[in-house]
Amino acid sequence: MRVALHRLPIALVLLALLAATAAHAVEVRFERVAEGVYAFIGETGARTSTNEGLNANLGLVVTPAGALLIDSGASFEGARQIHEAVRRVTTQPVRWVINTGGQDHRWLGNGYFQAQGAELIAHAGAEADMRDRGNDQLQALRAVLGPKADSTVPTLPKRWLRGGDERLDLGGVVVEFKHRGGAHTPGDTIVWLPAHRVLFSGDVVYVDRLLGVLPMSRTKAWLDTFAAIEALNPERVVPGHGRVCSLDQARRETRDYLTALRAHMKRAVDEGVDMSAAIRSFDARPFAYLLNAAELMPGNASRVYLELERE
Ligand SMILES: [Zn+2]
Repeated sequence: MRVALHRLPIALVLLALLAATAAHAVEVRFERVAEGVYAFIGETGARTSTNEGLNANLGLVVTPAGALLIDSGASFEGARQIHEAVRRVTTQPVRWVINTGGQDHRWLGNGYFQAQGAELIAHAGAEADMRDRGNDQLQALRAVLGPKADSTVPTLPKRWLRGGDERLDLGGVVVEFKHRGGAHTPGDTIVWLPAHRVLFSGDVVYVDRLLGVLPMSRTKAWLDTFAAIEALNPERVVPGHGRVCSLDQARRETRDYLTALRAHMKRAVDEGVDMSAAIRSFDARPFAYLLNAAELMPGNASRVYLELERE
């Protein structure tokens, strides 16, 4: 049945219009994690037009000489909204943007921030991945965001970090970076603020929802990267996805799942068990409470099996 708008009381029509407008806006809001350190906690579900593809977390560090943004969001328009949220926290300009990996919502907002004068920084391990997948990622986002993706141009960082352990002084704040050969994507790098004991993990840590193993993921290096996080013993972890958490929660919901899955698939590959039998026999129950578990488990299991065959 079609509802004729002109027959509805005007108040109802206004209410409906208001709801429609609200549904079009994601609210980017940074929450305080420590003195001068903030996180935006994105939705744990899928990319949608409503959330601007921002179904991931971001970080913000305010220094006396400018603000450091950790990840630039999935689009030019999303980045503009991130910038508005930054302005509600500080009057400092965004002077540096770090991309913690090559996933769309970590770097496709780069063009916006470069136009604002920010310096874009990432680990060199991300470069090939960004070049290879940038246009495909944008195509996939167009299907979700429609015309809202129009001004987005994949924009690579100009400054590449090359070592496994790097340290920058940004406006008097020491920021450390650790790269152990990739994780969820080949360029995944963790960002450590030693003075605050806060860790921004990028896609190395997922909590509340199950992590995703992609064809370009490297789960062996992923666990090496996780070990680097444990060695730092952070007080608070801002994960790539999910709420700000403790190291213990990160262990249970990221490390333990990867460790169990790799051990199971290694045994299967060593014993010549075929992939579908190996996927069926994995005991997923300890992780079934995590969001997206049912959808992601089979794909994750098959990719880890293939990775162990290659090792
Ligand atoms: Zn992600």
